[in-house]
Amino acid sequence: MVTNDGTTHIDSPMGGRDGYTSMEMDGEEIDPDDIKKAFFVPKLCNQCDNPACVQVCPVGATYQTNDGVVLVDRDWCIGCGYCIMACPYGVRFFHPVHKVADKCNFCYHRITKGMEPACVECCSFGARRIANLKDPDDPVTKIITTERVAVLKDEYGTKPHVFYLGLDANVR
Ligand code: SF4
Ligand code: SF4
Repeated sequence: MVTNDGTTHIDSPMGGRDGYTSMEMDGEEIDPDDIKKAFFVPKLCNQCDNPACVQVCPVGATYQTNDGVVLVDRDWCIGCGYCIMACPYGVRFFHPVHKVADKCNFCYHRITKGMEPACVECCSFGARRIANLKDPDDPVTKIITTERVAVLKDEYGTKPHVFYLGLDANVR
């Protein structure tokens, strides 16, 4: 949220799971009349082409498939947390039950069967789409290659594969 004085306020209570039910942002009460613009930016594993998490994993538990998806092998992960620290997007977490590192895997079990990721299928507004970037006729690939899209933290050289349309310059 950006207020009229140009200040950017960032908050994500429970990752937005329960919605935004008050005008409190990061502990500060915001006057609705003071809001210049507000937006919600879902973040997830960017399935980087040059993934920092793969580079630091000492046991090869985090790896990249031939089709470009970054996965975690729960049997090999020793829970050292290196990947959690290395990911510049902060999208990795320690799974409290399995005691290993975890993250979004693009619903690999679904996309390899020709299905869409669960988030793409259930989003009521079609805000999320998935593409096969190797297919130039894929409608989403066409959007990515012809329209103005942005990625997060491009300067890290991770070559992220999550693209945003209309990303506000305040979003990092
Ligand atoms: S976003 Fe983070 S966890 Fe996902 S592939 Fe990139 S570096 Fe790894
Ligand atoms: S927590 Fe697991 S996946 Fe992450 S770097 Fe350590 S062994 Fe690899």
